[in-house]
Amino acid sequence: MSGLYLHIPFCKTKCLYCNFYAVASQRLALGFTETLLLEIENRSHQWIDLNLQTIYLGGGTPSLLPSEEIEKIMNAINRYFIVKPPCEITLEANPDDITIENLQSWLKAGVNRLSIGIQALDDHILKFLGRRHNTAQALQAYSMARNAGFKNISLDLIFDIPGLKNENWENTLKKILSLYPEHLSCYALTLEEKTVYDDYIRKGKYPSPNDDLAAQQYEILQDITSKNGYLQYEISNFCLPGYHSRHNSAYWHRIPYLGLGPSAHSFDGAQRWWNPPSLKEWKRLVSLNEACPSEILTTIDKYNEYIMTSLRTSWGIKLSFITEKFGTSFAEYTLKIANSLMNHFLQQADCDTIVIHPKAYILADGIIEKFFLTQDDINTDFIKKSH
Ligand code: SF4
Repeated sequence: MSGLYLHIPFCKTKCLYCNFYAVASQRLALGFTETLLLEIENRSHQWIDLNLQTIYLGGGTPSLLPSEEIEKIMNAINRYFIVKPPCEITLEANPDDITIENLQSWLKAGVNRLSIGIQALDDHILKFLGRRHNTAQALQAYSMARNAGFKNISLDLIFDIPGLKNENWENTLKKILSLYPEHLSCYALTLEEKTVYDDYIRKGKYPSPNDDLAAQQYEILQDITSKNGYLQYEISNFCLPGYHSRHNSAYWHRIPYLGLGPSAHSFDGAQRWWNPPSLKEWKRLVSLNEACPSEILTTIDKYNEYIMTSLRTSWGIKLSFITEKFGTSFAEYTLKIANSLMNHFLQQADCDTIVIHPKAYILADGIIEKFFLTQDDINTDFIKKSH
């Protein structure tokens, strides 16, 4: 079983913090669906496992595409791949694109999970972020989606935003959880290079992100979600039991996925390849059915990726898996590093499983880095023994 990701790279306007590949011109959308349909057909002939366990329409703003185009895309996927229940089919939608007609059309096309980019419930903050919707539209979009029949809804929220006080954040979470969404994705506002936010900070218009505030608001998030019965199964993801995102979880479990559309990445278990982050270049590549740039993962790459993706989740790292896939020396090395971080940062979930302590999730990047190996380490004694 594998996953399919489709990148729909259009947005009406660019949000302040966004560094995804997304273009704000509708003119560039001309011919997009036709090219994507051709790519679906071409790549299906080269992809080994056509059985899809998840499909994810992300972006950009997939909800901006006319609903007939979404139907055409889903029809093509059904023609060239095997899509059977319980395939999870997610569409990312912005609140201002959610209409009764769109919802009905997405359901008809087979979409069974909606991910709504609510981000905040404060009109000033939404404006600051550059979002096109307001609080009332966000709440209305959610209730319309429910009434239309969506039984699996994920909401995106952002914290550590200039002007977002702890009390406002707590109230936002309480209001959101009173709606009983099945899933929540919550991210601290991150400073990405070449974004409007980055530019504002450089010009002194806004202060840099505040790590202390981020930590406080993350703690509020963990506290309120857990009191309301949500499971934290990844650093930024929370769900009601049974509703984890199967698509994203497959990335963290390194299940092969095919990415289509400009800038989309693919992974088949041994190598990774990626489409160019340019509509023009992507269209050229698809029309000639050319291969994308790719890289074959080394043992060190695979080990580092295993640590990076697994430690982000509540499933953690398995020493038996490391022994089986990489050898005893890698497992011994992992245990040695883990022991040096045990109690404060890591904990043993059972005799085979190591996880990050939920209170230390905020420090996850630094913890994960401690395990990383470089190619030079292949010469050290512990690696030699495993070969
Ligand atoms: S809607 Fe999403 S993809 Fe588009 S600019 Fe905003 S954050 Fe980026």
